[in-house]
Order: sequence, then structure tokens, then C-alpha cells
Amino acid sequence: MRLRPQPKAARREKCKKAQPPRKFETHPLYGEIPLVLRTYQDPAGNIHNFYQWDLDYEPPMPRHAVRGDVRKQNLCFSCHAPMFFYLDRHQTCIQCGRDFVFGAAEQKYWYETLGFYGTSVAIRCPECRRKKRNETSLNQQIAVAKFNLKKSPQDPMLLLSLAEAIVLCHMKTGHGKIEEAITAARKAHRIDSNAVEGMFWEGCSHRIAGRVDKARDLLRNFLATAPRSRQQATLMAKATEYLEELGES
Ligand SMILES: [Zn+2]
Repeated sequence: MRLRPQPKAARREKCKKAQPPRKFETHPLYGEIPLVLRTYQDPAGNIHNFYQWDLDYEPPMPRHAVRGDVRKQNLCFSCHAPMFFYLDRHQTCIQCGRDFVFGAAEQKYWYETLGFYGTSVAIRCPECRRKKRNETSLNQQIAVAKFNLKKSPQDPMLLLSLAEAIVLCHMKTGHGKIEEAITAARKAHRIDSNAVEGMFWEGCSHRIAGRVDKARDLLRNFLATAPRSRQQATLMAKATEYLEELGES
């Protein structure tokens, strides 16, 4: 016997009946988030049903909120609700103790462009973050110079790079192996007499170590012998500044 096709309306009715009940989860920020039913087939072939956040949900946004693109977020949605929008967060910097705003737009950039995990938050203020980045890159410079010096221990550029990074890092953090900077700077200048920055970095190192006379001599020699180039201009300005500070007019 041939089955007669069902009228459209009846089919629609049947379909409606087969729809699972709509579910919602109440969230303090995003309101009633709709959940959608998903199915999953395990390796044994069993079908499992589960509810998942409706990723297309667009809750009404408070003023100054920034809409989130939840599909770009790196976050376990089984444990956390997607970030449908971002709001400015007021935080206290763990380093300097000052209050700062972890802005909505900045959060979007962190979680959707940089791919930071959704539960990570800015714990340092922008100023302390910048300082820390500088410190990290100087430590990297030290590590790279040391690594390459193992292969080319006589390379004046690597020696200068090492001395520079140690000195700058010490100026920022108040610690570092300043004697190592002196050795590297001196060796660079001894190997290549054109590496006059060696005198500058050695002078800076002695200044840090409190050896005023040595610092003065080296900075003075650096100023007297450094070629007048744009490359050296910044160091020369610094050398002049340090000499004034060390009591030289
Ligand atoms: Zn801070």
C-alpha cells in the first residue's frame, strides 16, 4: 500500500512536537542565555544529547559595553559562559598597588586577537606591564648574547650586546651581574678598538657599582673617541648626563 503524502501543515505540526523544550540559563551579566540541544556520538556508536550555550545569542548591551565574538574566544564553554560582551573592569595592580581599568575594548583584544585564555585577567597596570616587558626583553637579550658567545666568544658586537643588556636591566631592576658586564664591555673594546661603546657600558657599570673615578675616566674617554654619528648620539648624551651627575662640569 502506498502512503499518501502528509499535508504540509500536519508535517509542520509534527515537527513542532518533536522539538525539544527550550532551555535557558540565568547569568548575572548576560541574562537568560538560551541553550541549544546538541548530539554527540561516542566511539561505541551511542548517541548522547546535551545542551550547549547558544553562541548566536545577542543579549542587550549595557552602555559602554563591547560586543564579544564568542567563536574567537579561547575558553572552555562547558565550565564558563561565553563572553557575549565586555565591560570595563576595575582592578588593583599587583605590582604598584594602584587602581587601573582593564578596558572592555582591551579585553576583547586580549581574548579574541591575542588568544589569551578567557579567565586570565590583567593583573598589572599598563605602566607596570610595560616595565615588565622591557625587563623580559632585556633578559632575552642577555640569554641570546650568552648563547651566541659560546659559538663566537670573540665577537665584539655580541659582547657589547651582553654588556648593554646587563647594564640596562640593572638600571631597571637594581640587580644583575654587573661584573660580567664590565668583563664583556672591556673585552669588546680590546678586541676591536672601534667598539668604543665598550667604554660607555663599562663606565656605566662602574657608575652603578659606585666606582666614581673609573666611571668618570671611561665616560670621558668614550666622549673623546666616539665618532660623531647619529648612532652614538644617544649614548653621548647619556655619557654627558652621567658625567655631570658624577660631578664633572
Ligand atoms: Zn602598576
